[in-house]
Amino acid sequence: MLDGCTPWPQDVAERYRTEGYWRGETLLDLLDESVRRVGGRTALVGPGTRLTYDELDRRSRRMAAGFRARGIRAGDRVVVQLPNTPEFVVVCFALFRLDAKPVFCLPAHRAAEVRHLCELSQAVGYVFPAELNGFDHLGLARRVRDELPALLHLFVYGEDTAGVGAVPLAEVDAEPEELPAPDPSDVAFFLLSGGTTGLPKLIPRIHEEYAYQARAASQASGLGERDVYLAVLPVEFNFTWGCPGVIGALQQGGTVVFAEEPTPDVCFALIEQEGVTITSVVPSVVQMWLDEAEWLDNDISSLRTLQIGSAKLHPEVAARVEPAFGCRLQQVFGMAEGLLTFTREGDPQETVLTTQGRAISPADEIRIVGEDDREVPVGETGELLARGPYTLRGYYRAPEHNARAFTADGFYRSGDLARLTEDGNLVIEGRIKDVIIRGGDKVPADEVERHLLTLPAVARAALVPVPDTYLGEKTCAFVVPQGTPPSLVELKEALRARGLAEYKLPDRVEYLGSLPLTGLGKVDKKRLSAIARGEDAPAAAGLLPAG
Ligand code: AMP
Repeated sequence: MLDGCTPWPQDVAERYRTEGYWRGETLLDLLDESVRRVGGRTALVGPGTRLTYDELDRRSRRMAAGFRARGIRAGDRVVVQLPNTPEFVVVCFALFRLDAKPVFCLPAHRAAEVRHLCELSQAVGYVFPAELNGFDHLGLARRVRDELPALLHLFVYGEDTAGVGAVPLAEVDAEPEELPAPDPSDVAFFLLSGGTTGLPKLIPRIHEEYAYQARAASQASGLGERDVYLAVLPVEFNFTWGCPGVIGALQQGGTVVFAEEPTPDVCFALIEQEGVTITSVVPSVVQMWLDEAEWLDNDISSLRTLQIGSAKLHPEVAARVEPAFGCRLQQVFGMAEGLLTFTREGDPQETVLTTQGRAISPADEIRIVGEDDREVPVGETGELLARGPYTLRGYYRAPEHNARAFTADGFYRSGDLARLTEDGNLVIEGRIKDVIIRGGDKVPADEVERHLLTLPAVARAALVPVPDTYLGEKTCAFVVPQGTPPSLVELKEALRARGLAEYKLPDRVEYLGSLPLTGLGKVDKKRLSAIARGEDAPAAAGLLPAG
């Protein structure tokens, strides 16, 4: 296994194999099998592109040879940041063929995140779009390449009109060659963690466990070979890529359709045109679809299942889904680290509307623990710990963090607060980790605070969530200023200039003379949240407004 990764203990891995969860298959085997079975069927649909399984196979083999000819080797890490297009799948399967490791990077990420991902993974290559939503990714690539001498190979989706020395993906093409097959128990690709303490970590996902995750998720959502999956959220999200998502659909021999935007006009038109049967979205997207559904006259009757997850879905919103869209709602709790729970077909309505369902694998182990790490009685809320055949055993190259993030017996501490109902369904109640869930995006407070503290006008900073009708949560930065407090616009501009993604920029800023502390001397974020919500006044907290 790649250096810096934590394997499952040997006896556990053996058990997962003998019990049939892990089948010694790579993600390439999974595609090869579908190519053999349904080669002529449509695999991928994007704006102006349709690829059959045979074509996907041919193109990814040619691209693998092209990457090799340009210097990418087995084991190399390559950061991949592409919009929702079939090209993303072609690039990933080409890298899998080479046994190079894609590192997934969201299209919304900017120089700070791309640099961090490249450094952390010691990437030698970076695949990016020339331009997206008006943003100059060529300029970003130049900036990152100039700072990181190890980043030797740039590949652009589109044209290198700025002369940064990037090879257009269309030219990454050579006669296919026989390459050694990757090891099923080795890393296939890396996902970015939604946020933990410190800077974001990389999650190694292994061929055979991810193949299993996709299979188990397909079974739990009833995805089969006649299904058409619509990728609405960024394809780099675990939710979109493999829950069951793109990988599940390709494994089954189904079709994946890519939406460029999550808006209802774009998505409903695609559902109608392509006969989409299943898709997955976050609650803020559902809200937008519900609001606009009555204005659109597309026939979306092909839609059978709408998976909703990644953030809390309120029961009142959940109750509107089936009547509005005429399809089944499936609640999903998931994390890029592993564990997935789904509500199921046939569950009572109450379960579907108010819980996040049950684990997708019989081998998943869930523990709900109190502060003393002991299990709490059923029905009580505690921290959710998870272990199982597709839940990681360690972040990449993070031994110190891993010592805290896992129990001695290998359970992952999710940082989520949850309870189990009498009938075994999971309900997410909140979180203890310092992450703000803004729509579907995870904003790690610590990361934003670090950036704020580098600004000359900021002496101290704390980022807290504030409730928001549409996004669920927004961010509010409490800042102790140094000199004249900057306006929110100036603060955002300064963070943008540091290369921070737009979704991480504070939605609101409040200035204080000092930050309230807990008895243990840590910043009292509960109190700050209450001040942000208007439920506590700075003066009552003994704080002076700045200035
Ligand atoms: P990510 O790894 O980016 O998918 O983020 C995983 C985190 O998203 C989880 O640890 C939860 O904090 C949150 N999350 C995922 N699904 C749900 C859900 N259905 N309800 C509430 N929070 C969720």
